[in-house]
Amino acid sequence: MGHTNMIVLSNNEGACGIPASAGLLADGRSALDALEAGLRLVEADESVRTVGRGGWPNLLGEVELDASVMDGTTFRTGSVGALTGFLHPVSVARQVMEQLPHELLVGEGARRFAAEIGAEAGELLMPHAENAWRRWFETEVGEVDRRKWPDVPMRELCRQAIDPELGRDTTVFLGQDRNRDIAAATSTSGWGWKYPGRLGDSPIIGAGSYADSRHGACACTGVGEMSIRAGTSRAVVLYMKMGLSVEEAVHEAVGDMRRLVGGLVGRVTIHAIDAQGNHKVVAVNGLPENHYWLWCEGDPAPRAHPAEIVVISDDPAPKPTAHVRYEVMNL
Ligand code: ASP
Repeated sequence: MGHTNMIVLSNNEGACGIPASAGLLADGRSALDALEAGLRLVEADESVRTVGRGGWPNLLGEVELDASVMDGTTFRTGSVGALTGFLHPVSVARQVMEQLPHELLVGEGARRFAAEIGAEAGELLMPHAENAWRRWFETEVGEVDRRKWPDVPMRELCRQAIDPELGRDTTVFLGQDRNRDIAAATSTSGWGWKYPGRLGDSPIIGAGSYADSRHGACACTGVGEMSIRAGTSRAVVLYMKMGLSVEEAVHEAVGDMRRLVGGLVGRVTIHAIDAQGNHKVVAVNGLPENHYWLWCEGDPAPRAHPAEIVVISDDPAPKPTAHVRYEVMNL
């Protein structure tokens, strides 16, 4: 067999997991196995405030997790949305793919399935997040609503809640293995202080991730509402299928995002690999510190690289509730 272009790419949050993924790929394991193993380490790391245990809660103070996997050879996928009480949503998502005739489970059903397969249960809300939520509750929710809680209208609370740019991130992994199979996987606690039941792009195949072993894979982080509206990950892979390079495909998808009118428009980072070992990462409305991790066959270890920044909005950061922003930034 000639050069196989083994590669694994993760976003900045993937730092603690990507060395394991790279090691497993180098050992000849499948892309899916390698990505799942790396993601589990990120989920278990409580210092990562946007994935797994330690993630930010929703408006009710509950941590709801979203995750997905996609096998780019069989086009099987597995996703879970708004899963509570289980430590490794990516593995539950993998088992949705392996064991069910379905592709996506949410809420109570996802919880039931996780329990049924013996997935590891555990407390997801850590003291830093609980304290930040309580501080928000005591200062931003009026006294009348606090007394009636949780039987109160939440639509305005979700608009004025924590700056979604701060309380938000995800981890995404893309990889190609020795057999040239390509996979994608995501995991997130989503948008902190989100409306209960809100799903971002991470469990939505085609929006937050997509993989096709013939062409490549894509996954997004940031304002999931944008990648859902633009169908970003599927679009990037389809643009590659139609003959664009990975770089051109990502820029075409950025162009799609420029057409979004209204709704929440903020930051999105688009990560993509092709089947020949090339990659492109563009941070739409991103910050200079936006970076990603990359390991290619033969590299001794994954390395961090800066993302290309493209600005599509004059006002990428929605206005936060001042004191919550302060709390979060000081954690
Ligand atoms: N994309 C995730 C979501 O919308 C969050 C993030 O990556 O920041 O839930």
